Amino acid sequence: LGREISRLDRLQLVSQMAAGVAHEIRNPMTVVMGFVQMMAQKAEERSKSKFALIMDELKRVNDIISDFLSLARDKELEKGRYSLNDIIQGLYPLIYADTIKQGIDLQVELADQLPAAYLDSKETKQLILNLTRNAIEAMVGRGNLLIRTDREGDRVRLCIADTGCGIPQDILDKVFDPFFTTKAEGTGLGLAVCKSIVERHEGTIEVESSPGKGTVFTIYFQVAGS
Ligand code: ADP
Ligand code: MG
Repeated sequence: LGREISRLDRLQLVSQMAAGVAHEIRNPMTVVMGFVQMMAQKAEERSKSKFALIMDELKRVNDIISDFLSLARDKELEKGRYSLNDIIQGLYPLIYADTIKQGIDLQVELADQLPAAYLDSKETKQLILNLTRNAIEAMVGRGNLLIRTDREGDRVRLCIADTGCGIPQDILDKVFDPFFTTKAEGTGLGLAVCKSIVERHEGTIEVESSPGKGTVFTIYFQVAGS
């Protein structure tokens, strides 16, 4: 038992240190991004695309750090009574822009009079965006993205379904693991963050997939006051 405890202590120490380092990288990153953006504005036409590339990669580093920090920190949620429908409607322009760019059909079916749930709106947005981004990435060029809400007893249900490549059975139980990715440019943090967000809301997240046909992620949250 003694050895087990010290192993846990060490793990905790290492993850605290990693979170500290990630946090410290953020400030210089912000400065670098600010300067690159400034230089990009003054750059000659022929260097513009190189600056765009640099900015894209810097943003990627920033996203990885944000995802990592939200996993490592186990941040306290700031919950309020929210309708999932309102959160989805707020994100609609962003998701729509992402789908149209990729030639994907977006379908949104929001239940009438969906009861509210206690949600951290920022984290719930992150959850939905991580799932829709994965869905879009799974469909390359064509397909259907469906976002649906409804009530299921004393829970509200959110389904995000795509007609993309699907997930092979043998990796289905790994997709929520931190750093698990099948993408050349993936971080493998998106679904780990989703799982952490849902669990801190005391909700559940499930995935069903048929390779070649598509994937459905289903999330349940307790109805507020139930
Ligand atoms: P990343 O997107 O950086 O690879 P994620 O944690 O978001 O990391 O996803 C992990 C893996 O799960 C992906 O690399 C992919 O193999 C699989 N995956 C997630 N969502 C989908 C989806 N909608 N369709 C097919 N595969 C998916
Ligand atoms: Mg992802």
